[in-house]
Amino acid sequence: MTKPYPLLFQPEFKERVWGGRALEQFGLELPEGHIGEGWMIADHPNGTTTIVNGELAGRGLDQIREQLGREWFGAKGFSEVNGRFPLLIKLLDCNDNLSVQVHPTDDYEGLPKGELGKTEMWYVLDAKPDAKIIYGLKEGVTRDVLKEAMENGTVMEQLQEVPVKAGDTFYIPAGTVHALCAGVVVAEIQQNSDTTYRIYDYNRPGLDGKPRELHIEDSLNVTAYEGSGATKMSTEGAVPGEWLQLAQSPYFIVEKGVVNGAWELSTSEDSFTIIVVCDGKGILRWDGGSIDYTSGQCFLLPANLGTYTLDGESTVLRSYLP
Ligand code: ZN
Repeated sequence: MTKPYPLLFQPEFKERVWGGRALEQFGLELPEGHIGEGWMIADHPNGTTTIVNGELAGRGLDQIREQLGREWFGAKGFSEVNGRFPLLIKLLDCNDNLSVQVHPTDDYEGLPKGELGKTEMWYVLDAKPDAKIIYGLKEGVTRDVLKEAMENGTVMEQLQEVPVKAGDTFYIPAGTVHALCAGVVVAEIQQNSDTTYRIYDYNRPGLDGKPRELHIEDSLNVTAYEGSGATKMSTEGAVPGEWLQLAQSPYFIVEKGVVNGAWELSTSEDSFTIIVVCDGKGILRWDGGSIDYTSGQCFLLPANLGTYTLDGESTVLRSYLP
């Protein structure tokens, strides 16, 4: 029986028309090209990450789920029915604007079989001066108004723009129209889904030179015109040794923690814990081992790990299932 330990993965990098090279700042070795996404912890048909440390090195997260999921993911994190790991953890480098998009809820009938809806949250790791994002519709925009704007190419006039800086966080429930824009690097915690409905793509060519497909009907169907429950906050108030809650959804709870010295913590029995290191470095210790950690790394702590210690000077996100 393998003793539980924190798992570190080889990321799956994705080239995107809007990507860049900014993820190199985390010491990650990127393949060539415009790298937009690093899938850091993934168990999805479009990308599965492989463990790089400890006894289970070389195995995929999907294999770990099959072999150890019940004990290691906890009762909330493991399901016989939809076996997939419930969350997908990414780092995004938005060197250019992402398409204006919206994601469906779990019960949308247009979803491909086996696919989930997509509620997500962002924590801004880095932002250029004057960086902004698109976050929600302007007040009073109805399905008809959005439809007409899509047909006339005036969608941007119906959307809210919000300035962003490092440390800001955004909760984006399914149904929220949104777009990350040029000059931001974010950590994304989301439902394990890869379903995006594209509303507008700035009339630009995709990686293959042709415009990327838009999804007019699906977008209109899944948009939450009455509001989706989206929230945003600045997280400057986080103090060492206390968790500041950033998002609480039916799918995940995400908290920010400032590590200043040794902080003793514990996993909960019914859910795994994911630690995303936003900045700084330190040592992660547990019963039976330790590993150095540094910004940009994402660890999956098994539910049955028990007590562990973060020791260093760093900012981290902690995610687990509600
Ligand atoms: Zn999205």
